[in-house]
Amino acid sequence: MLMDDFLRAAGEVCGADFVVAGAAIEPRYLQPARYAPGEAVALLRPATQDELSLLLKLAAEAGLAVVPQGAHTGLVRAATPSDGERHLLLSTERLREHFEFDPLDRTLRVSAGYKLSEVNERLAEHGLQFAIDLSADPSIGGMLAHNTGGTRMLRHGDVRANVLGVEVALADGTLLRLGRGLQKDNAALPLQQLFVGSSGSLGLIGAATLRLQPLARQRAVALVAPATLAAVMPLYQRVMGGELAGLVSAFEGLSRAAFEAGLHGEGPGRWFEGQLPDYALLIELASELPATTLDLQALLQQWLESEFESGAVVDAVLGADEACWALRHRISEGLRAQGSVIGFDIALRRRHFMGFREQATAWLAREFPPARVADFGHLGDGGLHFNLVWPSSERALPDAEMARLRRGIYGLVTALGGSLSAEHGVGPQIQAYYQAFSDPALLELSGRLQSLFDPQRRLGLVDWGAAAATSSDA
Ligand SMILES: Cc1cc2nc3c(=O)[nH]c(=O)nc-3n(C[C@H](O)[C@H](O)[C@H](O)COP(=O)(O)OP(=O)(O)OC[C@H]3O[C@@H](n4cnc5c(N)ncnc54)[C@H](O)[C@@H]3O)c2cc1C
Repeated sequence: MLMDDFLRAAGEVCGADFVVAGAAIEPRYLQPARYAPGEAVALLRPATQDELSLLLKLAAEAGLAVVPQGAHTGLVRAATPSDGERHLLLSTERLREHFEFDPLDRTLRVSAGYKLSEVNERLAEHGLQFAIDLSADPSIGGMLAHNTGGTRMLRHGDVRANVLGVEVALADGTLLRLGRGLQKDNAALPLQQLFVGSSGSLGLIGAATLRLQPLARQRAVALVAPATLAAVMPLYQRVMGGELAGLVSAFEGLSRAAFEAGLHGEGPGRWFEGQLPDYALLIELASELPATTLDLQALLQQWLESEFESGAVVDAVLGADEACWALRHRISEGLRAQGSVIGFDIALRRRHFMGFREQATAWLAREFPPARVADFGHLGDGGLHFNLVWPSSERALPDAEMARLRRGIYGLVTALGGSLSAEHGVGPQIQAYYQAFSDPALLELSGRLQSLFDPQRRLGLVDWGAAAATSSDA
């Protein structure tokens, strides 16, 4: 099929206004949150799952590849097409046909194009939420495809833990409804879960049924300076297991370099009397009960006092909840202002956390002395943004050296049984390392599974099998 014929036929499916040829695509669809812009042969924006299905059939007939895109906030380049002749960019932003809230079951059937903020604004009046929390505003489809974690995963789980059903269009256009949206359902293989974390490569998610959770009625936040690094994990164990058990909603770690980046040029004066610790913790308690029934501020203060007396904590900031989170959420942007950021989104067993930081920092000091470690992250759930700043004053790292650096860090992570993608998913940015560091038997099975869903490999940008690496910097 000629391209002009394809575009005309696609326009008949979803309306000519919603089919745009390559050169006329608005830059926001091609420019990812980080990294260089991509290119596509055309942009398609269907409004219903039927349109989605018909467009996939047309793409199959034309032999074109389809790259799904939600809000384009992903961090592994998996929603940015890169082939101006073969990649169709399929934006889900107009997929908004379902918003079916069930207050009794506490579930929501929602189309993939809704954004997290819209969903939670509408649910707030019912005292409920889709309990994933992050500083970006992704689409529901993108959240499923990358299995988003976020800062409160410790309490509520990731997307996977909160999905009860998925509606998908397969590469040949077949529409499937997987999972009945029930809280309990063992009467089928849980195929819906295959699409969670699949980076858009097994099918196009048109809608999902989500498990909802009650909104917190109060929160209490402390920014804590532990006495030593060795005190951090015992503090975690005590806050999770003692009198505050069940109340902790976030336990974030901030290295001093990350903390300074979060200050964004402001002096450290308001924090710890200007004496920043080597490592700080952001601990949040949350409850569905009102403060008149359970006073979280008082409980957190009491706990901190006992930790202060035992010598595990040397300082803490209480009562500045919003400022603490604002600082935490500004870190990434602050680091970017300091040079080019080499990001690692890794997961480790908690017992390996501090050892890994030490080992990796020492290795970098030997092999890549200009790299400055500025790590932070969701310590409580084992996730670590082990980010490095490469100063602008230094010569940019050539590709081969960048690959050596990445392989070195991922090697340390995998030797400890860790993961090279804690929550950002797999995409072209880490494709080669995924292949290099995964068990060959797992790659073999994953590749077979992907071929089953998409025999011609036309969906998404990830190859889950063992085929040749394509990462830009591998
Ligand atoms: C400032 C900032 C903070 C962030 N913080 C976090 C964080 O704390 N935790 C975290 O986990 N992530 C975080 N992220 C990453 C990002 O927000 C998540 O990965 C998010 O889930 C991506 O959703 P999206 O709608 O933007 O998807 P996109 O970026 O558009 O796409 C992501 C992937 O999903 C696929 N996709 C999109 N829609 C569909 C669909 N309907 N069907 C099939 N495949 C689809 C795409 O092809 C791609 O593979 C952050 C990003 C930014 C910019």
